[in-house]
Amino acid sequence: MRYAEVSVNSPVAQHRAFSYTIPSSLDVGVGQAVWVPFGDKLLQGVVLELSDYPSVEETREIAGIIEPHPLLSPSHVLLARWLSEYYLSPLFAAVSLMLPPGFERRAVTFISSPTTPYEYDLSSLTTGQRYALDLIRKQGKVSLRNLESVLGKKRAQAIVSQLVGRGLAVRSYEMEPIKVRPRVELYLSLAVDTAEAQQEAARLHGGRATRQAALLDFLAHQSRAVPLAEARQRVKCDKVVADALVSKGLVRLYPVEVKRDPISYEGITPSYPLSLTAAQRSALQSIRSGLLKSARGGASPSVFLLHGVTGSGKTEVYLQALAEVIKLGKRGIALVPEIALTPQAIERFASRFPHKVAVLHSKLSLGERFDEWQRIEEGEFDVVIGSRSAIFAPQPELGLIIIDEEHEWNYKQDNSPRYHARDVAIKLAELTGAVVILGSATPDVETFYHAQRGDYHLLRLPERVTPSEGSPLPQVEVVDLRQELKAGNRSIFSRSLSQTTAKALANREQVILFLNRRGTASFVQCRSCGFVLRCRRCEVALTYHFAGEALMCHRCNYRMPVPQACPRCLSRRIKFLGIGTQKLEQEAGYAFSSARLLRWDSDATRGRHSHEEILSKFRVHEADILIGTQMVAKGLDLPLVTVVGVINADTGLNLPDFRAGERTFQLLNQVAGRAGRGTLGGKVIIQTYSPEHYAIQAAAKQDYALFYEKEIAYRRQLHNPPFTRLVSLVYSHTNDYLCRREAERMRRLLIEERDSKGIGDLDVIGPAPAFIHRLRGRFQWQLVLRGSEPSSFLSQMAIPQGWAVDIDPVGLI
Ligand code: ADP
Ligand code: ZN
Ligand code: ZN
Repeated sequence: MRYAEVSVNSPVAQHRAFSYTIPSSLDVGVGQAVWVPFGDKLLQGVVLELSDYPSVEETREIAGIIEPHPLLSPSHVLLARWLSEYYLSPLFAAVSLMLPPGFERRAVTFISSPTTPYEYDLSSLTTGQRYALDLIRKQGKVSLRNLESVLGKKRAQAIVSQLVGRGLAVRSYEMEPIKVRPRVELYLSLAVDTAEAQQEAARLHGGRATRQAALLDFLAHQSRAVPLAEARQRVKCDKVVADALVSKGLVRLYPVEVKRDPISYEGITPSYPLSLTAAQRSALQSIRSGLLKSARGGASPSVFLLHGVTGSGKTEVYLQALAEVIKLGKRGIALVPEIALTPQAIERFASRFPHKVAVLHSKLSLGERFDEWQRIEEGEFDVVIGSRSAIFAPQPELGLIIIDEEHEWNYKQDNSPRYHARDVAIKLAELTGAVVILGSATPDVETFYHAQRGDYHLLRLPERVTPSEGSPLPQVEVVDLRQELKAGNRSIFSRSLSQTTAKALANREQVILFLNRRGTASFVQCRSCGFVLRCRRCEVALTYHFAGEALMCHRCNYRMPVPQACPRCLSRRIKFLGIGTQKLEQEAGYAFSSARLLRWDSDATRGRHSHEEILSKFRVHEADILIGTQMVAKGLDLPLVTVVGVINADTGLNLPDFRAGERTFQLLNQVAGRAGRGTLGGKVIIQTYSPEHYAIQAAAKQDYALFYEKEIAYRRQLHNPPFTRLVSLVYSHTNDYLCRREAERMRRLLIEERDSKGIGDLDVIGPAPAFIHRLRGRFQWQLVLRGSEPSSFLSQMAIPQGWAVDIDPVGLI
């Protein structure tokens, strides 16, 4: 007898796998998806292990096979087990990260005749049984649902059981078909002949309908139908313009089903490896020898940290390292932060490896993801590029994993399993022998610590690649806002920022004004008594929104009008502290009245304009000043930008998070990297109330080493990672008192357990109200475990219901 350990798709299964007998009729292997009986249900499962002995006495049989070939490779099976153990997540939740998109579906039961002929006295059957049998024989295969609709649910099930019991019929199982809607795009073509279209275009032009004329003329010059999206880009018109032409009977607009290919190779020309700079060459050389060593089955996996400022040519090193791994007959996965997954980024990979690049990210439809997954598994692509979940792509012969901007905290998943893609990548490399490249201008302090210790190989690209005669690193100036106030400047723009901006605008250069906020004012404070208006449900400060003169809670969407007077002391001196992008836009409008402004934040992009539209507008110089939040800090390459102004660098420095300094440094450094990408050079002006802070000092000097030295010393002193590991435990309840009591009970439980095991180096911190104490009407209390191995300590404990556990949290909630 053979047995299989199966991870079952049931919330009851939790961290366990279950033993099943493998019927002799089935060929079952590790990684295979199967149907298994579980309680009175038939559920999906994935085989993790085969053995000659069951782990329990009584086992049931595997009912059927879902896919003829295994869906998980042996390495992925081990990775799933590690994920579940390390992040304390249910086993199937970990397994399902690696299953094809849309896999979690129900079983459809079918009834058919047995393959071996049978003899049976049919006259002994009831009418119902005979009816069902006739149907099965006639149709070959009938779904149970079908029989149920004719015979009634209970009766059909009884009859089928009787027939199967007597060997007259067999059951089989299939998954519900996946519901994937075809993708449709609108196309435009002429409804009249070319000559007539051109005549009409001329007439429309005369009648000052220039946009309609332009579109009609454009279509008259095309030999085929054109996607509306393309026409809008080329002619710069809205859909209304197309609609106007449709209503005049000149143009047809109709839907066409398109193939789901996330990369359009139209307009992408192949690119060739650049001849490398000395620093790039030496980095690539180290990586190449790592790849060769691992191809020969070298012992430990190699992790490289490629530390180089923005524009130092890291991406070119990735591309050439990928070419090396492909030469060795292997393949790669490249992760980029979601925000950086722009068409430009994809294009750089797609043009180097035409038709050999797959894209996986959350913006794709289920159908697109499903198609890509299948094609990846079949080995169609050399490179998979995607956001964090692409680390689980079924890329065969994996030889290289690249994680660009490895310090980005959106590599951490924020619901269970709360994995970190970087740590998963390193584990996967250990299991497959692949090589890992972590790239960043501002590496995560923990990553850099490992590189310093020699756990990872440190590779440096110290300088920007300078294409023409050279763009030096931008000049950075720190402005003390306290001095501005003393000098009588009450504007949000310091004298220096005003002058520099005005000068750049006069030279027809571009300016970015950066703000780490949304809305008009971050919070409203009374100047007389200091009272701050907060959301009564969530306890976070309410944000002032200029449009509609409203205050709103960004957590729960609670809104209220701005009060005339302070609710506490009735003073009318309610002041708006802090400033948001809308207000900044308004102020910039006053200060630089001739400049064309463009705002880029999530409010602006949620509506009609996509990131791409806003960006391309700025790129073609349809605006002079770009105003934005975090988004402007990432992944852009804008040669005309010569000034970047940071309106208030202190935002974020005062958050109750031990990584606040690191985050601020990373952000400022990135923002500074936006200036001077072209040959014009650039200037960055950082406005702050705390110019002496080391994170601001180091960012101003673009000096990672300076920042790292201070930061790592604080980490050591305060027993924070990388010198310890953290776990955050959050309990939430509608009753604050009960929530606190449960948190205190949990604290005692943890301390008891720790002391009974005699573990010395484990701190239990808290409980305290979480940073966001109240969320969607529930209170949250938090405990933090700190020690060398808090995760394995917890894994040996039964964690009470209702606790959310986050191993290696990236932000203290
Ligand atoms: P990073 O990824 O570090 O930001 P990139 O790889 O994007 O840097 O390089 C910045 C710019 O320099 C790009 O335009 C790139 O094409 C160019 N570049 C990179 N390496 C070279 C090289 N060896 N020779 C010439 N240009 C290069
Ligand atoms: Zn007051
Ligand atoms: Zn709220």
